Amino acid sequence: MESQLYSVQVKNSVGASVGASVGASVGASVGASVGVWIPGDQLLLEHPAIAAAEKEFGREGLEVVIVESLARRNRLPYHRRKSVLMLSAMRHYAEELRHLGYRVDYRRAATIGAGLSSYLAERGHPSPFKFLTMAASEYSARRLQNELLPALLDVEIEVLPNTQFLSERFNPVPAGKRPIMENFYREMRRHFAVLLEPEGKPAGGKWNFDQDNRRPLPAGLELPEADGWEPDEITRQVIEEIDREGHGYGEAAGFRLAVTREEARQALDLFIEQRLPDFGSYEDAMSSRSATLFHSLLSPYLNIGLLDPLTTIRAAESAWRDGRAPLNSVEGFIRQILGWREFIYCQYWQQMPELQTANHWQANRPLPALFWNGQTEMNCLGHVVGNVLDSGYSHHIERLMIICNFCLLAGIEPRQVADWFNAMYIDAFDWVVLPNVIGMGLNADGGKTATKPYLASANYINKMSDYCGGCRYDKKVRTGANACPFNFLYWNFLLNNEAALRANPRLGPAVLGVSRIGTEERDRIGHEARHFLESLDK
Ligand code: FAD
Ligand code: SF4
Repeated sequence: MESQLYSVQVKNSVGASVGASVGASVGASVGASVGVWIPGDQLLLEHPAIAAAEKEFGREGLEVVIVESLARRNRLPYHRRKSVLMLSAMRHYAEELRHLGYRVDYRRAATIGAGLSSYLAERGHPSPFKFLTMAASEYSARRLQNELLPALLDVEIEVLPNTQFLSERFNPVPAGKRPIMENFYREMRRHFAVLLEPEGKPAGGKWNFDQDNRRPLPAGLELPEADGWEPDEITRQVIEEIDREGHGYGEAAGFRLAVTREEARQALDLFIEQRLPDFGSYEDAMSSRSATLFHSLLSPYLNIGLLDPLTTIRAAESAWRDGRAPLNSVEGFIRQILGWREFIYCQYWQQMPELQTANHWQANRPLPALFWNGQTEMNCLGHVVGNVLDSGYSHHIERLMIICNFCLLAGIEPRQVADWFNAMYIDAFDWVVLPNVIGMGLNADGGKTATKPYLASANYINKMSDYCGGCRYDKKVRTGANACPFNFLYWNFLLNNEAALRANPRLGPAVLGVSRIGTEERDRIGHEARHFLESLDK
């Protein structure tokens, strides 16, 4: 969608030059009696705050207000491709709304509060005036909506229920109960009638096809290319701005993500057509030949409102019903969105604010420099971190079983790991990073998100990837000069935490091996681990 308003400056309440990038609302807004404030991760076509404002005041009586907050953008050293995605998608969204006939005030400000406050001051808004908005998915943003902004702005802010998550409509977990993901997922399937036979039984007779999945990648299998979209004028301008400002990490150039609803829909269609059939079989596989494999790459679009979760789920379900994709793949994919994604969102809200500082294993090592420069002789870790530094993406198993597994075994402080994830990944937001990283990946919430810590030695990594073949370490060796660090770190962790791990019924058998290790070998493992960890700090 090309804008006719490129020559109009973005309204900028901090005085910085924003460049000619996207149309601001031109005149016409005086007299709006309601402002619909839309945060940057809520780019919904059917936004409930717009719908409610339009119902009450008519289209003429409302104005959409979108603020680019410099404080939010600079909170962490974000990957520049993530910044491009956010800003370009927000500016395209403003254009989309204008094409639909809405007045949009798009401005940049030091903070959201400063942006809304300058908006009010400039508009000389009629009284009574109010802002309508939708409940944010992140804890700090919701506090801003509910507590900080009403006090700062001295206007009414009506916060409507969030519609971006299906569990906001139906939450199968009774208040105060500890949810189990499998039960949660089945209830969601029943409630939303997804992959059900007419009599309410699960399609194919099973709720879960995991046993058909989790295959390693066959050596000769042809791998698909990741989709990409040529940046349009708005995106090119954002890339130029991000490069000029110099904040953040990585290269903005090379950005090829979807930034409009139409492109996000194309991304969904391409995934269903080209990768969904093999998604299930290889969803846990890792390969140095491809960072993206058969994954959907849809998380950024789902998280900022360009794709709707139920539409995405229904599209995958139709592919199975029409014979375009097998059930193991379709169920596996739907489980990720209707199960894991929603479950994680519920975990976040159940565990906040304590989750931000949870540190069950009392890990306090700083995040090593290799996370910023990718330099390590560990082939698997170097490869995955390198991909993330390049593109802001790695798939689920690499996040969990390479990066978090390493950080848990190495005792890296959970908050520092979460900050790195939040900064580096194109799809990262607090609601999804904290439960996945601090909860599932590092088990720092004491097992509230996942019932067991995800720990693995080189054996698992070798089984699921081709990384070990090209590594200077020996995957089979536990101690000595060539021993794989995942091996001695894994056994060191089990030895140091034997009692706590034995108490976990899901881990007990794995820990039994510890009792077969003699004193000398225990000493060697401890020595190797200490030596290696000290070298990380240098
Ligand atoms: P696919 O493999 O194609 O999966 C389909 C969709 O399922 C994803 O797009 C995503 O929307 C959803 N999904 C699957 N698992 C999860 C999950 N555990 N939590 C939430 N959604 C899930 N996801 C993010 O969106 N943002 C993050 O910052 C993020 N950080 C993670 C950190 C760790 C340590 C772990 C273990 C997982 C994290 N995830 C995160 C979940 C998952 O890894 C990504 O959603 C997925 O890799 C995104 O790539 P994809 O779209 O190709 O996913
Ligand atoms: Fe990773 Fe160890 Fe395999 Fe090397 S040998 S790739 S460090 S698991």
